[in-house]
Amino acid sequence: MVFITHIRHAIQQRSRMFLPTPVHLPRETRSKSQSLLQQTAIVHSVEHGFPQLLPLGFRVLTKLKALIRNEMNNIGGQELSLPAIGRKNIWETSDRWNLMHDELFKFKDHDEEYCLSPTHEEAITKLVSSVCKTIPRSNYPLLVYQITWKYRNEPNYRHGLLRTKEFLMKDLYSFHTDEKCARQIYDQVCDAYERIFQKLELNCFKVPADSGLMGGSLNHEFLGISAVGEDTLLICPICNRGYLKNKTQCEHTEKTEQHAIELGHCFLLGDRYTKAFNAIEGSSDIATEKKPLIMGCYGIGLTRLMAATVEILTPKDFNDIRWPRRIVPYQVAIVPPKKGSPEETNGNEKTLGRLLKLDNTEWFVDDRNELTIGYRLKDCQKMGIPIVIVFGKRATKENLCEVIDVYNNRTEYLSYEDTLKFIHNYYSVFC
Ligand SMILES: [Zn+2]
Repeated sequence: MVFITHIRHAIQQRSRMFLPTPVHLPRETRSKSQSLLQQTAIVHSVEHGFPQLLPLGFRVLTKLKALIRNEMNNIGGQELSLPAIGRKNIWETSDRWNLMHDELFKFKDHDEEYCLSPTHEEAITKLVSSVCKTIPRSNYPLLVYQITWKYRNEPNYRHGLLRTKEFLMKDLYSFHTDEKCARQIYDQVCDAYERIFQKLELNCFKVPADSGLMGGSLNHEFLGISAVGEDTLLICPICNRGYLKNKTQCEHTEKTEQHAIELGHCFLLGDRYTKAFNAIEGSSDIATEKKPLIMGCYGIGLTRLMAATVEILTPKDFNDIRWPRRIVPYQVAIVPPKKGSPEETNGNEKTLGRLLKLDNTEWFVDDRNELTIGYRLKDCQKMGIPIVIVFGKRATKENLCEVIDVYNNRTEYLSYEDTLKFIHNYYSVFC
């Protein structure tokens, strides 16, 4: 199966996977994602706002990265990498060393002062300004992005991965020689964001928002409805649009109020940073043409988005995780017969495993055969594996696979060939 976010993995046996019994379960939380992700050893803990992801969680995050990277590349984004540590002087140039004082992790080493970067407007604008004289006009609009760990000294860290001090973020920066182009790209990035959330099976609302300390003339937040969300969203059932409280709205009066999670944010920054760093369109010798570049910045928090998908897609009071199908930790789990049962020696799971390998499906076998089929099935369901294939009494006797479509709560007995077709059809919708 060709899958853009496919991950190869040498270990296919559940018994060998690093999935330790949770020891850090949160005592009290309103957050479904935090409880479920820690109960299933996808996340070890988020103590003090610093996440520790276990291998299953890292698989999900890697797939999310691939999905977002793909969309950014499709709109002409070029990936690069900037340092996590920022020097004080560049943060002073934009005045955010003081403005963001409380949010920055600051430290001193050998008489030099630094911070751990929560975002990179300063770093990228400084970089562009240092080379802007040699950037040919054909490079504009210039779209560069990175997917890196960022740091914010967030006093209100909470809800597991939803609000943390260390987080994985995709930050895209665009540079333009004129405002019109900046607005066109702004719209294109917003469209790419809507495609990303759609691919993640999320219903999201794009709403005009506040620019806060970022500055700039135009910005939108992307919000997903969730009880644990900290934003208040007003939804108009007539225009089917969302609005933030205290912001400009449509003329209709009957709106429903919902809590919502911020999934992404787009800013048209104008010349707030390019002016401060003297990043100009510099290929011309004519002095009047040397005006600051127009800039946009666009962020998605991946660790937050990973938790948000679980919050939004998992129904209330449900104990099994629901993932967007494109980022499930594994596509298929196989549950062979219990040790000592008459079906034990048939080895059907090995036959199916070989076929799935040839098909590039992401699968593992829950080979803890001392446990009952029911127990292992429940375990797979809990971590949100969408398709579980069980070799119980009837399946083994009739040489069939018992295919459990977990998300749709359906079971079918299928031949090997039809099982492969079933899996193929199931995931082809999400390719
Ligand atoms: Zn309306």
